[in-house]
Amino acid sequence: MSGLTHVEKCQSFAQKASDGELLDQYCFFSTGMEPWALLLLREELGQRGLREDSFLEHRKNHGNRVTYASDGYPKLCKDCRRAATGHNTVWAKFFGLLPLYPRRVFTCDDHQG
Ligand SMILES: [Zn+2]
Repeated sequence: MSGLTHVEKCQSFAQKASDGELLDQYCFFSTGMEPWALLLLREELGQRGLREDSFLEHRKNHGNRVTYASDGYPKLCKDCRRAATGHNTVWAKFFGLLPLYPRRVFTCDDHQG
């Protein structure tokens, strides 16, 4: 146990996250999120000058490209905490050497290719 509460962890995530990560969390991962966590995200976004019109625009620009899992949550990018908007096929490798089988990995706009 680190001794940090959920609130403190969420606060430190929000402060370190990029604008894109915060917008993704707020717009696409809000289902089932605790009300205090949503408030906290909203507060951080507000401090960065991102408000309702930014949320609407983010949903419009990203919403129909986000890949959703069967449980209704967006897939996460393999390299960060953003919602995935694309995917790549990579070969899983035995001991990092011998190709075993193709594996689908999900990527965000920042980590495509
Ligand atoms: Zn990413």
